[in-house]
Amino acid sequence: MYIVLLGAPGAGKGTQAALLSEKLKLAHISSGDLFRQALANGTELGKQAKMYMEKGQLVPNEVTIKMVLDRITAPDCKNGIILDGFPRNLEQAGALDKALIETGEKIDHAVYIKVSEAELLSRLTGRWVCRGCQAPYHEISSPPKKAGVCDKCGGQLYQRADDNTQTIKKRLQVFFAETAPLIDYYSKAGKLVEMQGEGSMEEISQRIISGLKTKAKK
Ligand code: AMP
Repeated sequence: MYIVLLGAPGAGKGTQAALLSEKLKLAHISSGDLFRQALANGTELGKQAKMYMEKGQLVPNEVTIKMVLDRITAPDCKNGIILDGFPRNLEQAGALDKALIETGEKIDHAVYIKVSEAELLSRLTGRWVCRGCQAPYHEISSPPKKAGVCDKCGGQLYQRADDNTQTIKKRLQVFFAETAPLIDYYSKAGKLVEMQGEGSMEEISQRIISGLKTKAKK
C-alpha cells in the first residue's frame, strides 16, 4: 500500500505517519527528516536545503524529487510506504505518480489531516522533538516527564529552528498556496480521505485507519 499524508505544518503528519507505519508495516519516509539528517551530517544535500528550510520555503523540486525518489527504491519500501511531507506541490505529485507507474505501483490513498490555523500555531510554537527518535512533545499539552529529556529513549529534546513564529507563518502560507492544491488533485483521482486532526494521537490514528478501510470498500 502506498499512502500520502497531507496536512499543514503542525497537523500531526509525522506523529500519525509513525503510528501508521507501525500498525500497517509500511516504511515511513519523511522528506523533512531526510533534509534534517542531511543537514546534521553536513552533506551537499544538507547545504543545498539549509537556506530554504531556515526561511520556511520549499527546497527546489529538482533536489527534493530526486532525494525522495531515490529513497523509495530502497529494499525496506517493497511492502509499501507512507509519505510524510512529500509531495508538497503539483510538480512533485506528478513526478511521484510517474515514477510509481514505471515500477507498476501507484498511490492508493492520500490522507488529509485537517487542523484549524489557531491550533497549528499553538502546536508548532510549543513543539519539542527528540534528537534521537524524533518523538514529538508539546510544552503544555504533552510535556515529557523530565524537562528536555525524551520519555521513550532518553534522548535530548530540542526546538526545531523553523518552529519560530516568523518561519511558521511563512510555512503556513506556503502550505495554503502550494500544497493545498494537492487536496483537489487527489480528490479528483478518487484517492482522498479527509479527516479532523484534533483529538488524541490514538483517536486520530483510529480515525485514519477506519477512513482507509471505508475507502477501500468503496
Ligand atoms: P517538515 O519537517 O515536513 O515540516 O519540513 C521542513 C522543511 O523541509 C520545509 O519547510 C521545507 O523547507 C523542507 N521540505 C520538506 N519536505 C519538502 C518537500 N516535499 N518539498 C520541498 N521542501 C521540503
